[in-house]
Amino acid sequence: MKIAFFDTKPYDKTWIEPLAEEYGYGIKFFEYKLNADTAMLASGYDVVCVFVNDTLNSEVINILHKSGVKLIALRCAGYNNVDFKSAHGKINVVRVPAYSPFAVAEHAAALMLSLNRKIHRAYVRTRDNNFNINGFMGFDLNGKTTGVIGTGKIGQVFLGICKGFGMKTIAYDPFPVESPDFEYVSLDDLFEMSDIVSLHCPLTPDTKYIINADSLAKMKPESLLINTSRGALVDTHSLIDALRSSCIGGAGLDVYEEEEEYFFEDFSNEVLLDDDLARLLSFPNVLITSHQGFFTREAMQEIASVTMKNIHAFETGDTLVNEVCYRCDTVCNKKEGQKRCF
Ligand code: NAD
Repeated sequence: MKIAFFDTKPYDKTWIEPLAEEYGYGIKFFEYKLNADTAMLASGYDVVCVFVNDTLNSEVINILHKSGVKLIALRCAGYNNVDFKSAHGKINVVRVPAYSPFAVAEHAAALMLSLNRKIHRAYVRTRDNNFNINGFMGFDLNGKTTGVIGTGKIGQVFLGICKGFGMKTIAYDPFPVESPDFEYVSLDDLFEMSDIVSLHCPLTPDTKYIINADSLAKMKPESLLINTSRGALVDTHSLIDALRSSCIGGAGLDVYEEEEEYFFEDFSNEVLLDDDLARLLSFPNVLITSHQGFFTREAMQEIASVTMKNIHAFETGDTLVNEVCYRCDTVCNKKEGQKRCF
């Protein structure tokens, strides 16, 4: 199998190269993201391996198909960047559904703790020999309420962590699961009751802008919004308005609606041209990380291992257990043990 690996960073090679050798696969690592301009580079390869900010729209998929690519191997869980209708019948799509829910849930917890206790600002202040603590007051998490939207693998781990802090745990998910660890409420109640709102659902047409002017208006003025899922779950302009008017207490974001151009890259010597991102970064009560929730040793090992197993299953004609359902446009919400939507 010949694999074209897009949007490669040095840390990807570290985990993928030894496994590729084991399987006897030839890999070409491209630093470019996959998009309509770079898709031709995949010509002559059987598989493209892509990440969260690669573009797999209809134009790209048609180029890949004509170039002989047979499999798209996503080395991530989310798949909102793939046009499944275009891929249907042309190219199979596999993903890594679960590599470490702990990695992302723990990062969400890190954002929650840092934002609440202003660790990001304290770090900068003490580095400048300024030991004043004015403005750094937070609140006890113990006894407060955390509301999770999306009680899948990551959402459940995050709820468990919050329970460990002595928090009340509530959740919203149209596909509820039985759990003694949290209680389901309506979305409106979740916004009204929560001191922390953390997003753990996938990006679909239903969840796009699930955080908007209306939902933000329902949230408590001191509440913190945490988003480690996908940027477009949050309407950025409404979030900026809410922060400007102190409608909520702050936001911890590992993802951003327009992150594709900036995240994972170094722009430290350039002027930031994205005004919304620049505005968000200007708020003292906003903490942004660059889509690093997944980035632990354990997760990287698992991503590499499952990606190679997915490709091997395709090569040998085995069942593609991690194939994404491409009959539905978005997410079929298949749960383990349940049938697909088709
Ligand atoms: P999962 O599939 O296990 O869980 C997703 C949950 O969302 C499911 O329970 C599903 O029923 C629920 N859901 C679907 N539609 C919903 C809706 N309209 N409202 C509320 N809930 C809804 O997925 P997971 O492994 O827990 O991952 C969650 C998300 O985290 C992924 O979709 C991905 O976008 C994001 N993610 C981010 C990173 C990162 O590095 N920041 C890494 C991995 C995953």
